[in-house]
This record gives sequence, C-alpha cells and structure tokens, in this order.
Amino acid sequence: MNEDDTPTPNGIRHLYVHFPFCARICPYCAFYKTRGNATEVARFCEALVSEARRVAKKFPLTLETIFFGGGTPTVLSTSQLKNLLGLFHEIFDLGALREWSIEANPGSVSATKAAALRDFGINRISLGVQSWDNQLLNLLGREHDVTQAEESFHIFRSAGFSNISIDLMFALPRQTERQWHHSLQKTIALQPEHISTYCLTYEEDTEFLARFARGEFAINDETEARFLELAMTTLERVGYEHYEISNYAHPGFRSEHNRAYWQGADYIGIGPSAFSTLGLERWQNVADHHEYARSLFANESPVASIEKLTPAMKRTEHIALGLRTREGIVADTVDQNQAEDLVSNGLLSLQANRFALTRAGKLVADSVAEELL
Ligand code: SF4
Repeated sequence: MNEDDTPTPNGIRHLYVHFPFCARICPYCAFYKTRGNATEVARFCEALVSEARRVAKKFPLTLETIFFGGGTPTVLSTSQLKNLLGLFHEIFDLGALREWSIEANPGSVSATKAAALRDFGINRISLGVQSWDNQLLNLLGREHDVTQAEESFHIFRSAGFSNISIDLMFALPRQTERQWHHSLQKTIALQPEHISTYCLTYEEDTEFLARFARGEFAINDETEARFLELAMTTLERVGYEHYEISNYAHPGFRSEHNRAYWQGADYIGIGPSAFSTLGLERWQNVADHHEYARSLFANESPVASIEKLTPAMKRTEHIALGLRTREGIVADTVDQNQAEDLVSNGLLSLQANRFALTRAGKLVADSVAEELL
C-alpha cells in the first residue's frame, strides 16, 4: 500500500482530541458540536481525561502529533485549559511530540489564554477566520468579526507562536471573486505559516443544506474551480507551497498531523464522535457528550461502532487522499492504462514513479480520483 500505513514498532504516533462545544453553532457545520452549559463542559472534561487514561493504558502510544479540535477548544477558560493540558502531560509520554495543534476561533482568545497554551506545549494554532468580510462572516453565522480575527492573530503572534494556520472558506453564497481575492491578500499580509482554503459544501443535517434545497443557494462547479485557481495563483506567487488540495504552507510548515491521515497512518481519537484507525480496524466514539461521559464514568467503552476495513477499502482511501497531495500516489497502485490516459489529457503527471495531479487536474480532483478507483 504505502510507506506509512502500518503501526511502527514504536507505537501509534498521532492523537486526535475532539472537544464538542462551541459558543455558537454555524449553519453550515457538520461536525459533532453543541452548546453546553458550565456543568456539562466540566463533566465532559473529566470524562475526556478518563478516556485519555484509558487509551494510554490500552495502546502503545509514542505521540509525535496531537490535534486538539472540535468544536472550539478555546472556549474553555484559561484555568480549564491549563488543567486539561497539564493532565495530558501526566497521562501521555510527550517526549517525542513534534506538533501539537489547537483549533481556535477569534472571539475566544485572550493574551493570558494564548500564553497558557504556549506554556503547556501547544506549538501550532489553527485559527478559524473563514473570511475577511463582515457580511460573509455574518452569513456564516460566525461569532467574530474581521477586527476580532485580526486581533486574535496578533495575540497568538505576541504570545510567541511561530506556526499559525489561517482557515478560509470560498465559494460562499454571494461571494465575489473580488471578495475572495481580498480575503487572500489580507491573509497574506499577516504572513501566517500555513493557510487552509475550504470550498463550502452543503452537508447533511445543516441549515445551509435546507436553504440550498429551498433554492436560496446554488452550486456552480465553474465558480468553485475559478476560486480554487485564484487561491493557487495568489498564494503560490508569494511563496506558499500548495501541498494538498486545501492546504498551503511556507517550507517546513506543512501540517504533520494531517499528513499522517493522508498517508494512511494509524491514529487514536478521543472525545465524542472521534474516529480511530488501527491497521484494518476503524472505530468511532459515540457522538453524544452525555452518553460519552456516562459510559466513561461507568468504566465502559465510549466506542459506538467498529468497522473492519478491507485491503480494497484501504486502497480506495489511499488513492482518494494521496491524490490530493503534492506527492501523489505510487504508480503501481492504480490501473496504468487509465492513469496514462489522464496523463495524456494533462490531468496527471508521472514523476519518480508517482502519479500526481497537475494544475488542471486539481480543478477536477474528485473526478480524476473516481476514474482511478
Ligand atoms: S465554530 Fe467550528 S465547530 Fe463550531 S459550529 Fe462553527 S464551524 Fe462548527
């Protein structure tokens, strides 16, 4: 399959932590998230620590990356964060840790909180800016405005973070190319080390999907491709490497944690709704923070479902995820004739025995992957 998809003798190297609470629920979001009161949040944190102890006992972990996402982990107070992160240091061996990311939303950040995150070993911030346009932020239901987003970025910089990623969204309803260009330029001016750009998708069980179904919003493949192309051109011109369809980084600042997912590495996820994958087995925790806490306090497993992966499923994932990366996939994992056709059509390139998407191929990445599956 690929070079990284078996557990190393040294153990599992990647941990995902899902924090399910947000200050406000965005109408396009399909992650498991909810608004919780102080009692629920405190109870959840206790349960999370309990699961952390459980997995540290059960699995050989030599953590190199941790991604603390959600939800919005930075809605925790500074003392709650200190307590939680301090316990992670006690529970896990973090001697080999290279990257510890946290998702942060503008509006939930203070200088004290940023300093605490830094002191407790977090070294990468993923800041959910989404847009530098107040009208679009309003449409997205975000709780922050442009001024707060800029302030939050500077708070993290002043606290000493030298690896900050900014998340942006494109192909939003009524978003113009001019607005998207402005968002990209504004982001570049701040000089983050990493930028993620996500095309809006209309996900099940979201208010945006209902609005789409009512005909209030529309999808236009050509517009999406133009926005992606504008991002590629604008960001590459100023030195960001386009190392995955949705991700750009200055040299040396690619996300190690996400790279592990894309390469099919094993990982453990804790928290409600979190997935774990170990070899040919994938399981998911219950997507309900009440049930999650109840099971852990009763000393029961919070796992709700287990899936056996077949080599064919792993191959499909390898192609779909690997193809999105700059390195592409090992040539002999796909049908040579089909791949050669895509090379002739200018959608794939073949270099050092790997097929990778060309610039034109990136604009139709999903259909290229479908051809190869
Ligand atoms: S802040 Fe993030 S996780 Fe929370 S609702 Fe919005 S998009 Fe979803």
